Amino acid sequence: MKNFIPVTRPLLPDFDDFVNELRDVWDNQWLTNYGPKHQKLEAELKSYLGVENISLFTNGHLALQVALRALELKGEIITTPFTYASTTHAIVECGCTPVFCDIDPVTLTIDTKKIEDLITEKTTAILAVHVYGTACDHKELKRIANKHNLKLIYDAAHTFGVTVDGKGIGSLGDISMFSFHATKVFNTIEGGCLTYSDPSLKQKIEAICSFGFEKNTSNALYVGTNAKMTEVSAVMGLCNLKIVDESLKKRKKVFEYYNEKFKNFDALQLICEQEGVKTNYSYYPIIINPDKCKTNCDQIAKKLEEQQIIPRRYFAPLTSEFSCYKNCFKNYETPVADFVSKNVLVLPLYPNLNLEECEKIYNIIVKELEK
Ligand SMILES: *Cc1c(COP(=O)(O)O)cnc(C)c1O
Repeated sequence: MKNFIPVTRPLLPDFDDFVNELRDVWDNQWLTNYGPKHQKLEAELKSYLGVENISLFTNGHLALQVALRALELKGEIITTPFTYASTTHAIVECGCTPVFCDIDPVTLTIDTKKIEDLITEKTTAILAVHVYGTACDHKELKRIANKHNLKLIYDAAHTFGVTVDGKGIGSLGDISMFSFHATKVFNTIEGGCLTYSDPSLKQKIEAICSFGFEKNTSNALYVGTNAKMTEVSAVMGLCNLKIVDESLKKRKKVFEYYNEKFKNFDALQLICEQEGVKTNYSYYPIIINPDKCKTNCDQIAKKLEEQQIIPRRYFAPLTSEFSCYKNCFKNYETPVADFVSKNVLVLPLYPNLNLEECEKIYNIIVKELEK
C-alpha cells in the first residue's frame, strides 16, 4: 500500500472523535429513522451548504430518484451523457426518457446553446450536472427552464461546498442532489442529500424516502422507497464536517501545484476557472489532445499505472454508450462529450497527497508529452 497512489482517498475523522460521537447512538438506542444525529447533521449541513431546505438520504443516487419522483416528472428529460451512471439511470428508473445534450468544451457542463433545439412537447425537465466542481451556467439554464416551463434539477454530486456569487450551489434550480459517498470531498460513508427551493416539498420528499408513508401513520400517500440515512452515517458526517474545511485547504495546495506545472502545455486542457465560483478542488482532470502530441490518454495512463499511480477515466464511456442502453434512445450527436470522454484522465487528488508524489506524477506525464 505504501507506494500505491490511488485517484482518491476517503476523508476520515479522528477515530476517537468518531467513537465519542457514536457513543450517543448506543445510549439513545436509536439507529435510523430520523434520529437525533440525523437531525443534527441536517441542521449543520443546511448552514454549511447555504440552503433553505434539505433532506438526507442513504446515498446520492436514491436521493436523485426521489427528486424526480417528488416532482412527478414524465416524458423527456434533457441531460448530458458526460456524467456518472447514476444521473442517466435515475431518469430511466423513473420511467422518463433521457435526451442527451452535448457539453460545453470549456466548462464540460451542459451546453446551454444546444438545449432549446432538443425541447419537444414531451420535455418536462432539465437535469444538469456540475462536473468536477465546475458550475453549470445557471443563469442561462434558469432562463430556458422558465421560458419553457421546465423543472430544473442539478446533479451536484461533485460540488459539495461550492459557492456561486457567494451563494451555496445547492440553492440553484428546483432541486439539487449532493453525494456523500466515500470517494467524494465530504462523506457519510454512503450518503447524500437533496436541497430544494420549495419548502412544501419536504413532507413529500421524506414520505417517498420512507415507503411513501404519511407522517406517523401506516398509510402510504405515494409509491415510496426506503432511502433513509442511518445514525451511524450521520455520526460520520458530523465528524467529517468538522475537518472538511481543513481538507479543502490541503486539496487546494495539490490542485494549485498541478495547475502551475501543467499550465503551459499546448496538448493539455485543464479545468477552467470560473468568475464568482469558489470551487472545492474535488477532481483534477487533464484532457490530452492526441493531435497535439505524440502520446495519448491510454499511453499516459499506462505509464502512470506502471508506477502504481492510478488515474481514473471520469467519465468514460459516456452513459449513452452503456450496453444497457443499446438501441434504447434516439442517437443524439454529442461530439464534444465524445472527445472529452476519450481523452480525459483524472489525476490523483486527496488531502494528504504530498508534493513529492505530485512531482512524480507530473514527471511521468511530461516525459510522455515531450517525447
Ligand atoms: C457519485 C455520483 C453520483 C451518485 O452518488 P452516490 O452517493 O454514490 O449514490 C451521482 N452523480 C455523480 C455525478 C456522481 O459523481
